[in-house]
Amino acid sequence: MKPASFDYQRAETLEHACELLSEYGGDAKILAGGQSLIAAMNYRLARPTVLIDVGHIERKNEVLVGKDGVRVKATTTQKIVEDNGKVITTIPVLTTAIGNIAHTQVRNRGTVGGSIVNADPASELPAISLLLDAEFTVKSNSGTRTIPADEFFVTYMTTSLEPDEVLTSILFKTPPSNSGWAFQEVVRREGDYAMAGSSVVIDVDNNGKCCYSRLVVFGVSETPVRAIEVEEMLLGEKLSKTLIKEVSGQIVELIEPEADVHASESYRKDAAVTLLTRAISEALVRTELS
Ligand code: FAD
Repeated sequence: MKPASFDYQRAETLEHACELLSEYGGDAKILAGGQSLIAAMNYRLARPTVLIDVGHIERKNEVLVGKDGVRVKATTTQKIVEDNGKVITTIPVLTTAIGNIAHTQVRNRGTVGGSIVNADPASELPAISLLLDAEFTVKSNSGTRTIPADEFFVTYMTTSLEPDEVLTSILFKTPPSNSGWAFQEVVRREGDYAMAGSSVVIDVDNNGKCCYSRLVVFGVSETPVRAIEVEEMLLGEKLSKTLIKEVSGQIVELIEPEADVHASESYRKDAAVTLLTRAISEALVRTELS
């Protein structure tokens, strides 16, 4: 199919993109890598009257590794972050998760910001943003604000971004040193969107008791879900196989998966429990290796 007709504007900077957004109003859309938006336009699921292209701005790709974490300019392609040696060393769960997005060709065009604003509940980056307490810096003509990841994803493919706001950068915070991490997902074919997934950061103290736990599941509700209640069940405990299995089972109370052509509701519930169990176990092994 072909998209409905639209006008095209090329932004020179993200500030310029904000000016164009406020000039054209709610019917305009930012075009980043186009890997989701163009398909949605071709299916007439999106009908923006104006596309504001941020794919040619100066220093489009920018990744800064600092004490707090990794700050990524929103227009940075997923592949640039995935291949950044410093990010691989500092936050390996981030680069591993990105490596599970689609295929190299898509990651070469698709941006980190585009994936986050697209807010598909089965996407890897929104889930990892929750896991890493990410902060999103957004800008409009009236100013700049920071939105924490846990206030950003509202419902299915809907965020708290206002229509005149542009996501400019994302801060992914570094997990505690020596913590263990894991990323697990189940897909029909390599590169597909996840039918269900889980990602975890765990740390244990000198007595082998859990002193830090971050647990996220995705593809099983309208947004990615941080399992705070389950995290609390792990804190202060020795993470035996039995406890991990028992606690992971509690995730079904926090999710509301929907059936689609790929999987039933009960399949997704089972997958969430299994993937969370595997992710906690794998992360625990990594704490022992660090
Ligand atoms: P675009 O498509 O250009 O934009 C997406 C949306 O975000 C639009 O609404 C746009 O207006 C808005 N937007 C973009 N940037 C900004 C910004 N800076 N500020 C405000 N709004 C903005 N994704 C996965 O997560 N996992 C997968 O397994 C996966 N598989 C895929 C397989 C295929 C074959 C394809 C084509 C895509 C797949 N994707 C997958 C989607 C891919 O990751 C996209 O790159 C991503 O969803 C959107 O990024 P983009 O830069 O292409 O954004």
